[in-house]
Amino acid sequence: MKFWKIKSGYWPVVIIISLLFCRLLPFTFPIFAQTPAGFNWRYHSTSNFVIAYRQADKTLAIRILGELQQRQQELARRLSYQPRRVITVFLCPTPQIFNLMTGGAVPHWGEAAANTAQWRIFLKTPAASNSRELLPVTLTHELAHLCLAELALPNAIPRWFNEGAAIFLANESRHAEPTMISRAILTNSLVDFEEIDDLLSFPNARAALAYGESYHAVNFMVRRFGGEAIRKFTQAFAAHQQSRQAFQAAFGQELWDFEAEYFDDLRQRFRWYFLLDESILFGGVILILLIAGFFVTRRRTKKKLQEWEAKESETAEASPPEIDGNKASPLPDR
Ligand SMILES: [Zn+2]
Repeated sequence: MKFWKIKSGYWPVVIIISLLFCRLLPFTFPIFAQTPAGFNWRYHSTSNFVIAYRQADKTLAIRILGELQQRQQELARRLSYQPRRVITVFLCPTPQIFNLMTGGAVPHWGEAAANTAQWRIFLKTPAASNSRELLPVTLTHELAHLCLAELALPNAIPRWFNEGAAIFLANESRHAEPTMISRAILTNSLVDFEEIDDLLSFPNARAALAYGESYHAVNFMVRRFGGEAIRKFTQAFAAHQQSRQAFQAAFGQELWDFEAEYFDDLRQRFRWYFLLDESILFGGVILILLIAGFFVTRRRTKKKLQEWEAKESETAEASPPEIDGNKASPLPDR
């Protein structure tokens, strides 16, 4: 599902970029929402949202507001929780304004951000976006961060769970990249939950792995403890600051045991996915072609040899017998 689209045919880029921005959010901004000098925001509000936009983006802003309402209702239903905070959404018309509003905390490829301290969401218009699109799943992802943050108040949820749940609730499962997980299993480089907390310091590839693992961890949690698991675990943080205590309160199990079970499940499910990696598939096809070529050439050579041998024996049969000169010469008459 796509909307607010400028150009078509960019979906692979969109998938990559939308996954990338999900990987670094939500941020704690060093500076919050600096309004650019000489820039006048227009505002439109409902009971749950205030959207700030440039006059030229009014139609888009109204549509986004409607979409936000709808997506928040879906989230509320899935989490059995109705958020009470009013969320302010800034629809930034240029990358520069987006950077200024987010205090420069979002990388250049970032498309959106949620500020859980001030209940704000920052979006880019399609014109300001690298992907030239603003995807509805982006709204759900950012709304999920704010909804979970409200549920867990006054404490914060760990990053692996926060990102994993936002991706899960936004139905971004197609971004889970099983081949990447499989390669990490193969090279013994999976990232554990505690390490994932520091993922903002990771290089891109490792951050991508950490986010993929986060999604699969929440997916495993839901399979293990049922559809209420995300809400239960989040709400447990309202009474427990530490992840281990919150997990014990929500599910009556040690978080360490869950983590061990999860990684076992991950290894079992994704171990062989690396075989679907494009480079491996390409290499495999080349190898098969080489082997096939070898056998075809060998068969042709063998056939040729057989033909030559057959020809040689035919030639030998057709030629007169070689006769020794002395024996062939008749004896002279005497
Ligand atoms: Zn996120």
